[in-house]
Amino acid sequence: MAELDWSVEYEAVIGVEVHAELATRSKMFCSCAVVDATTSEPNIAVCPVCAGMPGVLPVVNQAAVELGLRLALALECEILPSSIFARKNYFYPDLPKGYQISQYEQPLARNGRLTLLTSQGEKTVRIRRVHLEEDTGKLTHINRDGESYSLIDLNRAGVPLLEIVTEPDLHSAEDVRAYAMALRNLLRYCEVNSGDMQKGVMRIEPNVSVRKRGSPHLGTRTEIKNLNSFRALERSVAYEIERQIKLLEAGEAVVQETRGWDEAQAKTVSQRSKEEAHDYRYFPEPDLPPLIIEQAWLDEIRRKLPELPVARWRRFQNQYGLSAYDAEVLVNERVVADYFERAASLAPQLSPKTIANWISGEVFGLMNQAGTEFDPQLLPVDSLVELLTVLEEGTINQPTAKAILAELFGSDKKARQLIREKGLEQISDESQILKWVAQVLQENPEQIQTYINGKDTLEQWFFGQVMRLGGGKANPKIVQQILREQLKRLKEQAKSE
Ligand code: ADP
Ligand code: ZN
Ligand code: MG
Repeated sequence: MAELDWSVEYEAVIGVEVHAELATRSKMFCSCAVVDATTSEPNIAVCPVCAGMPGVLPVVNQAAVELGLRLALALECEILPSSIFARKNYFYPDLPKGYQISQYEQPLARNGRLTLLTSQGEKTVRIRRVHLEEDTGKLTHINRDGESYSLIDLNRAGVPLLEIVTEPDLHSAEDVRAYAMALRNLLRYCEVNSGDMQKGVMRIEPNVSVRKRGSPHLGTRTEIKNLNSFRALERSVAYEIERQIKLLEAGEAVVQETRGWDEAQAKTVSQRSKEEAHDYRYFPEPDLPPLIIEQAWLDEIRRKLPELPVARWRRFQNQYGLSAYDAEVLVNERVVADYFERAASLAPQLSPKTIANWISGEVFGLMNQAGTEFDPQLLPVDSLVELLTVLEEGTINQPTAKAILAELFGSDKKARQLIREKGLEQISDESQILKWVAQVLQENPEQIQTYINGKDTLEQWFFGQVMRLGGGKANPKIVQQILREQLKRLKEQAKSE
C-alpha cells in the first residue's frame, strides 16, 4: 500500500490484549509439568485434570498466582483481595473440557499503567485488567496419503496464562510496538517468562479502530490474531489502520471482526465476523472457591520485586550521567543493565559513558554476530573491564582494543595476557615513532610537495602511512603530534628557501 498522509484527518485508536505464559514448573490446575512447546514429544505431560476427564477437581497453582501478582504489581494495578474463576464455554478440539477456566467479572487485578519510553518522550498506557486463565492444547493439521488429519497435543492444555488488557490508549503502529516491547521487558524483569515470542510465551492481539480526529466516539474495531513477532505486529497494525481509513474514505463501513495476519501477502485477512463470534456463557467456576489474596503475602511479593525498567532508567541518568537514550539502551534488558552496573562498579576509574558505549556498540555487535541474545558468559564482565582499563592506560589503541575484544569474546582469555602473547602493546616510544614519521616523509617527496603547496588534508594520509608502518601499534596521539611538528618544520623550511 502506498504511503498515505491520514494523520491530519484521522486518528487510530488501539487497545492490546496480551497472553503471557507464566513460567511455572507445573500447570495451572494440576501437577503436570510445563514442558517446552517446541521441543517436547506430544502428549507427555497430561493427566485426567488437564485432559478434561469427568469428576476431577482443579487445584490452583500458587506459583502461578504469585507470578501473576508480580506482574500486576509491576503494572501498578489495584489487586482485588478476592477474585473469581469463571468458565468460558466453547467447543473446540483443543479444549478437552469444553470450557476454559478464566476470570471474568472479578479479575486478579485492574486499573494499572505502563510507562513507555518513546521517541516522543514518555507515554502512559492504562491497563484495564490482568487476569489468570489456562492455555488450550495445540492442533496440527496434516495431510497424508491424500487424507487430512488433525493431531492434538495436550502438553499445553492447562498451562498457566496471564491475560493483560489495555485501555484503547495507543495511536500508532509504533506505539503498539513500544508497548509490546515494554511489556516484554517487564515480563522478563519480573521473571514471569522468557519473552520468547517464537515459543509463543507472549502472544499479542491488537484491537484497531480509526475515527475522525476530535470525535468523542470510538470507531468499529477489528482484532488481529496470529502475530508472532514485533515486526508482524507493527506491520499488521499499520496495514489495518490504512485499510480502515480507505474503507471510510470510500464511504464504506468497517466490519467488527477477527482478522489474521498473512505474512506472505503482508496483509490482514478476515477470519470471523461478529455474527459468528462465540457467546461464551460465562459463569463462576463451581469447582473453585474465590481466590483470596492475603495482604501479607502481597506485601512480601511487592518487597521482592526488582527495580523496574523505568525507575532504573531514571537512576542511570542521575547516578551515571548517561543520556536518556544511552540509559534506555541499557535498561531494556535486565541482564544488560546488570552487566553495565557490574562493569561500572568494578572500574570506577572509567567513565560510565565509555562503558555504555562499548556495551551498546561492540559487545552488542558481537552478540548479534554470534546470533545469540545478550549472554554475559560469552564475555565475562571482568574481561571487558580489563580491556577498557588497558585501553585507558594507553597500552593499546582503539583499533587494537576492538580486535582484542573480538578475540576475548567466547574465550576464557584475558586482555593483558592476549596483548602480551601477541606483542600488541602500543608503542609510545617517541624516538621510534619519529623514525617511522621520518621514513614516511622521506619516501613520499611528491606528496610532501603537494602538502607544502597547500593541500592540508594530506596530513591524514601521512598519518595513515605512519600507522601502517608501525603495524597499527603506534600510539596515535603521539604519531599525530610528531607528524604535525615535522610537517610544520618542512613547510617553514620551504618558505625560507
Ligand atoms: P473483548 O475482546 O473480549 O471483546 P474488550 O471489549 O474488553 O474485550 O476489548 C478488548 C481490547 O480492545 C481492549 O484492549 C480495549 O481497549 C480494546 N478496544 C475496545 N474497543 C475498541 C475500539 N473501538 N477501538 C480500539 N480498541 C478497542
Ligand atoms: Zn494435568
Ligand atoms: Mg478480544
